[in-house]
Amino acid sequence: MVKNKVSLYFHIPFCTKKCPYCHFYVIPNRLSHHKLLSESIALEWQKQLPLLKNKEIVSIYFGGGTPALFGGIEEILKNISRGPDCEITIEANPEEITLDLLTHFRAIGINRLSLGVQSLDDRSLQTLERVHSADKAKEAIHNAKKAGFENVSIDLMYDLPGQTEESFRYTLNQLSALPIHHISLYNLTIEPHTSFYKRQVQTPAPELSLRLLTAAVEKFKELGFERYEISAFALPNHKSLHNLGYWTARPFLGFGPSAFSYWSNKRFRNVANINRYAKQLKENLSAVDFEEELTYPANVKELFAVKIRLKEGANLHEFELPDETLTAIEKLKYLELLKEENFQIQLTERGMLFYDTVAAEII
Ligand code: SF4
Repeated sequence: MVKNKVSLYFHIPFCTKKCPYCHFYVIPNRLSHHKLLSESIALEWQKQLPLLKNKEIVSIYFGGGTPALFGGIEEILKNISRGPDCEITIEANPEEITLDLLTHFRAIGINRLSLGVQSLDDRSLQTLERVHSADKAKEAIHNAKKAGFENVSIDLMYDLPGQTEESFRYTLNQLSALPIHHISLYNLTIEPHTSFYKRQVQTPAPELSLRLLTAAVEKFKELGFERYEISAFALPNHKSLHNLGYWTARPFLGFGPSAFSYWSNKRFRNVANINRYAKQLKENLSAVDFEEELTYPANVKELFAVKIRLKEGANLHEFELPDETLTAIEKLKYLELLKEENFQIQLTERGMLFYDTVAAEII
């Protein structure tokens, strides 16, 4: 019997300090919260387990927050029946991990590390008010290799306040010396309710932003990283199985406060408050406080817009797109933001730079 492929996401909301640009649900790292979270995730697991009958779990992702601070990961993994090829990722910040901790992660089955490096320039790290230094980040990456990780991803950020092309190139030029296999590249966006937003922090002008992005894309290519999605770059055989699921509509279940799920064409999110999340589950109630089901044609348009983020794009035969979207695609082709070959629609280089415009036209 062919089992449907699914993924699991665990949101571990603890952080030692809230970064001034962070818009995720995070709370201070307290041991009393660890116990509460472990008990609540165990209850949620029991509640959701029937949904996983006859499903193949292809990836598990511990995100946050900083799951590396949480002692309950091993217990969670013990309960999950999975195959040997299941990709299991944990996010971590450089200042939290030691060789011993990384060795422990490998021993309990975690086979992919996603490190919040952000920059290898101490001035940029200070701008971001990060706790770690560039040296600490490099040490963490080398320790991951020593611990046996053969799949290490780093997050890098650009568009930082005061960032110059020179300072960004300083970070990029250090990458060749590091045993990394995957890079997720993000531009800093100033989200409402963040400290940067309140302080009206400014990011670089669009022309500089474009130069920074271009510098990164060229450097990654030179180092052998394939841009397989707009913001994701991988060495051969190191694409993120978990993230590929998000771009190809693979169902996933989220656990923990504020965790999103996508299941049976519905998107839903747990309550973003650890005490309310725990209370709901203790009372045998659902932890979900938001749910939406996109209907035709919004669902198809959205799936199409997400799938073209991938390098290989999306095939028109796979989607029943309404006429207005087909007209928009023609317009985007004319503007050289999209290209088409044998009904396969892909972003052009220019389209990758202006994906937001493309997505807005399609949706
Ligand atoms: S470490 Fe990550 S999750 Fe924690 S506050 Fe900073 S950006 Fe947010």
